[in-house]
Amino acid sequence: MRARLVVLLTLIALGCAACGAPSRTTPLVSAVTATVAATSRLIPAETFTASPTPSATPTPVASAPPAPAPVDPGALRTAPRDNYSVPALPRAAGDKTRVVVIDPGHADDEIGAAANGVVEKHSNLDMAFRVEAFLLAQGVRVVMTRRGDVRTYVGPPIAGYSATRRDLQARIDLANDINADIFVSLHSNGSASSADRGVETYWDSLRPFADANRTLASTIQRNVIGEMTNAGISVLDRGAKNDSCLRGFQGRCFPLFLLGPGRGTTGAEVLQRGGTGDQAMTSRPTAMPGALVELLFVSSPADAALLQSEDARNGLARGVARGILEYLNQAPRG
Ligand SMILES: [Zn+2]
Repeated sequence: MRARLVVLLTLIALGCAACGAPSRTTPLVSAVTATVAATSRLIPAETFTASPTPSATPTPVASAPPAPAPVDPGALRTAPRDNYSVPALPRAAGDKTRVVVIDPGHADDEIGAAANGVVEKHSNLDMAFRVEAFLLAQGVRVVMTRRGDVRTYVGPPIAGYSATRRDLQARIDLANDINADIFVSLHSNGSASSADRGVETYWDSLRPFADANRTLASTIQRNVIGEMTNAGISVLDRGAKNDSCLRGFQGRCFPLFLLGPGRGTTGAEVLQRGGTGDQAMTSRPTAMPGALVELLFVSSPADAALLQSEDARNGLARGVARGILEYLNQAPRG
């Protein structure tokens, strides 16, 4: 169970440094297959989305442990701040341009799910560039949390804080600092069962803007499925899903770190992770609506084949971008 907690708390691991970031001109398929050509072993990094059952259906909220008590920010130290590795500035005063943060999940040694010739961190980055291209053409400003195979945070090690936690926090901080309209994280799923497949989009119901979260996620999900259908490509629609109790551990619910409320870490947990002092900590959550899209399962041979198809990848990216645009068109400007 201890190992499960570590997996849980490290969620969407990220970041690399010397892995040779795939350039925009690098064909995805060759980049991916070059990296894992000899790998048939699934690296189930997406344990935060896979369920304990082979169906990978998230645990129903009704039977999950109760939500944790609200964190009192005034009683906790906040997580350390890091600089981030991508240049970005806030909007100029009066600039009404929509700003969308696109977050390619994982990076560096935290590669995400990998199977069937697809490495998620590379696939996510390629997909993010595709989504960005569609949005830029529509006059939307896009800020990506990484543009290469590097973690988003820049800084020396800090006792008690994992690289993954700091990386995720930096992605959130970046979105908050530039006052983005929405935060959209791109992933692909992994499961112990090769039969699990399809597209799903997560949103969080515990935030003050929960309704917007749900609208954003469902709009993206619908458009991805719609674009794939229009392209004549069949994918399973797994729907938009509430992540508020995606995982339960020791009586606590854990939503996705990127989407959920500020996450409290007890003093004992800080010490267990090698930190000094025993004061509890809390993370900084996003200040804007967000969604996390799981674009197919790399662990499904059929889905992985689609992820190595230009037509399918463009359809998925077009669907994400169209969903974002549809959401922005109906959402009030902040
Ligand atoms: Zn992922």
